[in-house]
Amino acid sequence: MDNYRQGEPGELRLKGKTAVITGAGSGIGRAAALHLARNGADVCLIDLNDNRTEKAEREIREMGRESLFVDADVSDPQRVEKAIRTAVDRFGRIDVVFANAGINGTLSPIEDLQPEDWDKTLATNLKGTFLTVKYAIPHMKQAGGSVIVTSSVNGSRKFSGFGMAAYSASKAGQVAFAKMAALELARYKIRVNVICPGAIETHIGENTNRTKQVDKIDIPVEYPEGNQPLEHGPGKPEQVADLVLFLASEQSSHISGTEIFIDGAETLL
Ligand code: NAD
Repeated sequence: MDNYRQGEPGELRLKGKTAVITGAGSGIGRAAALHLARNGADVCLIDLNDNRTEKAEREIREMGRESLFVDADVSDPQRVEKAIRTAVDRFGRIDVVFANAGINGTLSPIEDLQPEDWDKTLATNLKGTFLTVKYAIPHMKQAGGSVIVTSSVNGSRKFSGFGMAAYSASKAGQVAFAKMAALELARYKIRVNVICPGAIETHIGENTNRTKQVDKIDIPVEYPEGNQPLEHGPGKPEQVADLVLFLASEQSSHISGTEIFIDGAETLL
């Protein structure tokens, strides 16, 4: 690319850009929101109504950036459309979309999994991603931009999360969706990439309902020296935020349609 410029240390890589982040009140979304703001972006924070997101909004404003919390359930088309419209009305543009909101949902053997529990996981994780991207596209077509989707190692490199059939299916679906979107949106210079985290220390446990029936299908998996080869423990949301910043910025200008694993080599064991 002719006008490609390598980032200087300390440069505000997202100066003048606007990012929309779902699931921005906690964990990976919150860390990414703070990090993108620290690097110059104004940020629209979409999450379910809770005071954690308002706290993130305040912290970003204290950095001297614009920030706006919009209460929306990502599985609800009307509310997502309205949230995106609110972001555009406030900031005038969308350059970066981080479709990240997600739940583990109900963990259960397939034969015991209730159809409504399947629907809830798929609606939040997969339909939520579709809706977030769908309603952002009209506002990104003119100037291009970057879409980042949070999938998981589950559904792509790991299949031993027993009871997680719905979750893994939703996460695999996100990877396929992002690749389709990367091709379709390349003409508008919109890049689309997927991040696949391994275990990360967040509040996802609050959205996890492990039924006792999972014990019936569990297969013990034992690793020779623990399950985290690189750091011997789960990753931190801030480490994932660094990857999100890279994919959001021009430093990744030739990367689209790619999934990137961020799991400390956990799933290579
Ligand atoms: P988290 O629970 O800390 O944060 C998720 C946020 O999403 C919460 O603030 C929650 O309120 C929000 N959310 C949930 N349902 C929503 C909905 N319907 N509409 C709007 N917001 C909603 O968890 P996290 O670990 O930061 O999760 C972020 C993403 O990372 C998820 O997609 C998750 O599947 C993925 N992920 C997490 C891990 C991990 O180990 N933590 C591993 C792989 C993938």
